[in-house]
Parts: sequence; C-alpha cells; structure tokens
Amino acid sequence: IRVRPLTCTETQRGDQRVVHSLGDGTVHVTAARHDATFGFNAVFDAGASQEAVFEGSGMRQLVELAIDGFSCTVFAFGQTGSGKTYTLMGPLTQSEAQPAAPGVLGLMQRSFACLLEQSRSRGSDLALSASYLEIYNEQVTARPAALPGTASTPHLRCPPRCAPQVRDLLSPGPPRALPLRWSKTRGFYVENQLSMDFESLEAITDLLLQAGSQRRRTSAHALNSHSSRSHALLTVHVRSRAVSTHPAPGTQAGLFVGPSAGPSKQGSLCFVDLAGSERVKETGSSGELSTEANSINRSLLALGHCISLLAKPRGKRTHIPYRDSKLTRLLARSLGGSGVTLMVACISPSSRCLSETLSTLHYASRARRVTTKP
Ligand code: ADP
Ligand code: MG
Repeated sequence: IRVRPLTCTETQRGDQRVVHSLGDGTVHVTAARHDATFGFNAVFDAGASQEAVFEGSGMRQLVELAIDGFSCTVFAFGQTGSGKTYTLMGPLTQSEAQPAAPGVLGLMQRSFACLLEQSRSRGSDLALSASYLEIYNEQVTARPAALPGTASTPHLRCPPRCAPQVRDLLSPGPPRALPLRWSKTRGFYVENQLSMDFESLEAITDLLLQAGSQRRRTSAHALNSHSSRSHALLTVHVRSRAVSTHPAPGTQAGLFVGPSAGPSKQGSLCFVDLAGSERVKETGSSGELSTEANSINRSLLALGHCISLLAKPRGKRTHIPYRDSKLTRLLARSLGGSGVTLMVACISPSSRCLSETLSTLHYASRARRVTTKP
C-alpha cells in the first residue's frame, strides 16, 4: 500500500488526513463514522521515498526473478490521482528536455537500472527488449442522430459500441487497434506488437518518454484524464545467457558462442498502470463518457472477479473467467500462471477520498490472498 501526501489543493481546502500508518504493516482509516484497520505486507506512508518503495516492496527481488526466467508483474491500482503513475514512473512533468531528478524516479526506471547493473555483475549477458501497450476504450461508432422532423425510433438507434482497443504505444503515427489472440503455446498475445531492443538506461527512458508523449498526442484530453481511462502495460523481456569463459576457437571472449554459452532463460517484467478505479457517478460522467468509464470499470470488475476467484482455497476454485475482458486476457499469465505479481495499491489520505480509499483497501486485501502454483 502506498499513501501519497496530501496535495497543496487538498491542504488549502482543509481536507482531513484520515489514513494513518504506524509502520507495522497496518493502515488505519479513521473518520467520523469509520474506524478500520487493514494489514498488508508493506505500507508506505506519505513520507516514504521512491527508493524506500523500490527496496521495501520486493521490486528488486522481482527484477532478479525476471532474470532467472520468471514472468513478473507489478500493477498499480487506485483511483485517479492516488499516485499510480508517480509510483511507477515518477512525476508527470518530466520530458526529454527536462528529465526528473534521480531521487523521484519511479519503480520502472529503478528496475531498468537494476537489470543493467545485474547484467554486469552476474557475469551473464542479458538481452533486453521492451513492448508498450495500452488498452483504451474508444467509442467506435457514435449513436446516429435522429433525422430532423422524425421522432427517433428505438430500432434506428444502434447501441454505442465500446469494445476496448489494444494499441501499441511504440508504433509511430496514429494509433491502430491490434488484435488480441490466443494460441496453445503462447497463451494470449497481441498480434504485430512492436518490441524494441535496448542496452542502456537512456535508451529505455527515452522510449518511455516518447511513448508517453505519443499517448498524450493520441488523446484530445490531458494526459491524466486520458490515462485515467486507459490501462498501460510496459513489458520488458529479459533473455539471459551465461557468457562462456572458454570461448570456442576463432571467437572473441565474451561473445555468445552457440551451445557452449550455457542455457538461456527467458523472463519478463511487466508494469501495469491501471485506469482509475473510481466509480462513474463520482466523476460526474454522463452519456458517452460514462459508457467509456463503465467499460473501463467493467475490465477492472473482471480483474476483481478473477482475483476473488483466485483468492479462494485451491480446492474450491472454479473456472477463472480471464476471457471476460481484454485486460484479464493480457494479464492471465501474471494472475494465474507461474509468475510472481506485486500489487501496489495507491491511496490518497484525504477525507474526501474516503469511500474510494476503503474500496481500494478491500480490493487489495482480496488480492493479497491470491496464491498460484509456484
Ligand atoms: P494517478 O496516476 O493515480 O492518477 P498521479 O501519479 O498522476 O496519480 O499522482 C497525482 C498527483 O499527485 C501528481 O501531481 C503526483 O506528482 C502527485 N503525487 C502522487 N504520489 C506522490 C508522492 N508519493 N509524493 C509526492 N507527490 C505525489
Ligand atoms: Mg496515472
């Protein structure tokens, strides 16, 4: 759990702090008619630094597991403005011209640094590549207006279609929806997804910033309101292979030399910045916007449903409906496979966010009970 500090606006308008942590892994929510305590593996209070979150959340171990060939996932969950993007990527104001200060870099950049550092110290060579997708709910067809002078008849109206789209944030040009497919060997995968190799921290950080501005460009809204209606998934594929200390004749030391280079492992590290979890009625959306918000909420609901079912004791588990949404299909392997998942639930300490904070804490409590086969 990460509790962000009260923002200036919240302090100025006199919001009360209703969330407290005593540093023992518990969160207390105390307001006029509420008094609840929740226990978690780790709780980061408003004063916790980005580094403390990286070290204390198990993120470093996740990076190491990815190098060892596991599929690892970290997902940030919580209402809009609760600090999900800040936790993953640092403050939003950074750009190519104005990079963020090292102290505020998020889990992503710290993990990349860790991966590159590990590749040097372990004596194994890592090949790193990244792909970046977003699941955005787009209004594909608008409701046709009734012809002037005619009463609109129900059968003339087609229901607004709002199937969420999977888009590639690395592909230049206007966003294109990519098909989500399934195969026996690969499970769910996105067809024609771009993947880019990178070898330095600058390369991957630039990639992130570019994709971020791409995201901004593709939307008529500001980034925050756009991102609050889309899920973003950045996956780093880690291929590791021990470097042979006895190079085959005729090759240079340190190069991959076929079978003598040791077994290769393929792991992945996926960062998921989920759409805001707030309920539609509280954001004041109406009409098409609320269809959009509903659909995003539907995928969060589907995710919650899968988590609830996975949280049941193994013998009592029924079929897990991953197919219910694009989000759960893409996350199927992280949720129920042999991977390791870290969930960072972000909450605001403000009294105004009380009900969303409680719902995030309940959701996180359920997620904590999920265990899958090692
Ligand atoms: P979300 O992605 O959940 O919508 P953001 O990460 O954009 O939320 O955070 C909302 C605002 O709060 C941003 O201005 C961000 O810089 C600030 N913020 C979030 N978490 C922290 C934190 N731990 N420390 C300082 N500022 C934070
Ligand atoms: Mg965000």
